[in-house]
Amino acid sequence: MASLIFRKGLDLKHAVSGMLADNYHSALVEQIKADDFTFKADRLTVHLAREFGFCYGVDRAVDYAYQTRERFPDRRVFLTGEIIHNPHVNEKLRGMGIEFMGHDERALDALGTNDVVILPAFGVTVGMLERLDRRGCTLIDTTCGSVLNVWKNVRRYADGGYTSIIHGKVWHEETQATASQAVSYGGRYLVVFDRAETAHVCDVIRSVAPLDDGGRQAFSERFRGAASPGFDPDRDLQRIGLANQTTMLMSESLEVGEMLKAAMLERHGASALDAHYQAFDTICSATQDRQDAVVALLRSRALDLMIVIGGYNSSNTCNLARICAESRPTYHIADPDCLVSAAEIRHRPIGAKAEVSATSWLPSTGPLTIGLTSGASTPDNLVGAVVARLAEFAQLPA
Ligand code: SF4
Repeated sequence: MASLIFRKGLDLKHAVSGMLADNYHSALVEQIKADDFTFKADRLTVHLAREFGFCYGVDRAVDYAYQTRERFPDRRVFLTGEIIHNPHVNEKLRGMGIEFMGHDERALDALGTNDVVILPAFGVTVGMLERLDRRGCTLIDTTCGSVLNVWKNVRRYADGGYTSIIHGKVWHEETQATASQAVSYGGRYLVVFDRAETAHVCDVIRSVAPLDDGGRQAFSERFRGAASPGFDPDRDLQRIGLANQTTMLMSESLEVGEMLKAAMLERHGASALDAHYQAFDTICSATQDRQDAVVALLRSRALDLMIVIGGYNSSNTCNLARICAESRPTYHIADPDCLVSAAEIRHRPIGAKAEVSATSWLPSTGPLTIGLTSGASTPDNLVGAVVARLAEFAQLPA
């Protein structure tokens, strides 16, 4: 029996709105917004970016997860993995009895028609959806509309014979799902992570002569696991279409696009460009708004330091931290508990794989001005708790 799929919620928004407000809203944050996004207490001033926290896609996904629990109180409810990249939210869902399957193949094979599975905001691969469908369980699809837009473009590229070049993180669920869309439509894909990988692709595009064995070897090593099966750089980089994981750094995605376009122009000439190169910006507006807001904050305020709150595996949060770190001491923290004391903070440095502890992070005397933002999967209550803790630390004697 094929699965029953709910894509527009379960008509229980009214029943869960109070619970969502209790779990994730913050009166302090509402007050800060009303006070021109500024908080003052004694020597401390905190400036909040004008766009931060839960995006429309995350808001909807979490809402649907709560509605699911409400609608099916007696059935087993599963998530394919994290619904969004925020440990606090995922923990709350676990507390409601929602189980996380992750890579547990046995859990997937044990699903039955009475089970309910929630698909996350960043979507699942075509293969995973087919497997779930075969189990006949009820599916609650929270895939964000902005992710669906990327998929639409990638499918169009496949239809037109263009290879999708996806600027994204190959280990991220959204990019894996996007890549699977290309393959399911008979297309090909290549994931590029940064400018360096794009430069390698551009070198191949520019070269008129086919790659020699060494060149092929270097290409396949560099893009191992990041290209569709049987990818042939000489054949599959002749016609390309650019797409982005929705949460990448906008400035970097634009640069990746410019690099690829310039290489295609050089190789094929202006008159043939459209036949060889297509591009649609698929960074979502929520990501862009948060990046623009933090750039505006950094430009407009004299800040001693920046704090960025969000899961360490949250792509959009990591990119906010990258922007901040270019001009200010920046601490990317997962939650308020990372503010251990006025003398110690736990944070993840830009590009590092693990959290570290830092000391002497907070100036102990004089006026203190801190900039604050949070990723699209960070609830306001965590932002409020961080502000409260900063206020407490700023009052402590040095
Ligand atoms: S970050 Fe963008 S694409 Fe991802 S869930 Fe939010 S709005 Fe949707």
